[in-house]
Amino acid sequence: MSDTPKTTAALGAVRSAFAPWNDPAAKPLVVFDGVTKRYGAETAVNDLSLAVYEREFFALLGPSGCGKSTLMRMLAGFETPTAGRVVLAGEDLAGVPPHLRPTNMMFQSYALFPHMTVEKNIAFGLQMEGVAKAEIHDRVAAALKLVKLEALASRKPHQLSGGQRQRVALARALIKRPKVLLLDEPLGALDRKLREETQFELVALQERLGLTFIIVTHDQDEAMSMATRIAVMDKGRIAQVGTPPVIYEAPATRYVADFIGDINIVEGKVAAIDGRRVTISTALGDMALPEAADSIAIGQEVAVAWRPEKTRIVRADEPVAGGQTMIEGAVHDIGYLGDWTTYVVEVAGQRLRAAVANASRLVERPISWDERVRLCVAPESLLLLTR
Ligand code: ADP
Repeated sequence: MSDTPKTTAALGAVRSAFAPWNDPAAKPLVVFDGVTKRYGAETAVNDLSLAVYEREFFALLGPSGCGKSTLMRMLAGFETPTAGRVVLAGEDLAGVPPHLRPTNMMFQSYALFPHMTVEKNIAFGLQMEGVAKAEIHDRVAAALKLVKLEALASRKPHQLSGGQRQRVALARALIKRPKVLLLDEPLGALDRKLREETQFELVALQERLGLTFIIVTHDQDEAMSMATRIAVMDKGRIAQVGTPPVIYEAPATRYVADFIGDINIVEGKVAAIDGRRVTISTALGDMALPEAADSIAIGQEVAVAWRPEKTRIVRADEPVAGGQTMIEGAVHDIGYLGDWTTYVVEVAGQRLRAAVANASRLVERPISWDERVRLCVAPESLLLLTR
């Protein structure tokens, strides 16, 4: 294992410079090429193509049953594609059994042996491979250090916390030095606080080891905070692949917009196209936004979407600047979350959300239930969704 330390603080900078998917000369490490997997009449993965690059922290994200695990299991060799190819480092993996693939999988259940100590659990894979005792000893010691479990080496799994068990499973998966580490819901068993800590640890570790991680998760926050790129899956297909900011700020479809974070979506029709300004007529009034006009036509059914935190909420009688979308309605609900307050505003039978950061401790005259308010959204915060 290479061991060039990089601080977590540098992570953002490292990550923003790292974008092999934008480099036409870069060769992907993992390629799914037109892969389909059927179980009887059920199509779990449907003609899916995807490339993952070396050193990526790649997240497969989607609701339960969308095919994430099946995709991962085909890469690990536990399932065989019905059609298509899975290629790793240029080699077609067809017919290569799991233990001969340069991949290793960490399961959601961790699958630790209950009767074995931490040390023995970690050493087990190498023993099965017939690695020499002295080497096993050294590699186990290094792996224990990596996941900061040196002091607990002789404990059994039931004497560990959830977070510690997770680290044993991680050490056990890493000790085989896989090119690609596959993690199936790796943090699913941890409570929220520990999960956040572990997310950072996992990213730091992946960066430090220079490995490629592919993670399966149904938790969007997890994918957003850890991944270099996310593939959002829908019924065995990929709805969109992109960096977390792209997925969040420029979702390609209603499905992706709705799946990631909170969003207001209003259906409408293209009413006017004027250069780069497009007007959509909706049941809540006209909404204008900047958009390249070449992909849309007058009369086309589209949706306008925007994020609650990009919405300003004011009292209906308060003067506001023009040039933005304004929607008047009544406050239906208020959710105080400490750091944020979410207002649910009812307009023409539809409920829209505005999220306001509570930047000051006390507000003199807060907006209350049933008040008439206006939601204001800048044109550049509106998204046009054609699919
Ligand atoms: P996810 O990981 O996104 O929850 P899966 O890949 O586990 O989804 O499953 C995708 C679909 O394939 C589901 O509808 C599931 O019921 C089906 N499926 C998965 N594995 C099997 C199997 N071994 N036999 C039959 N159907 C399966």
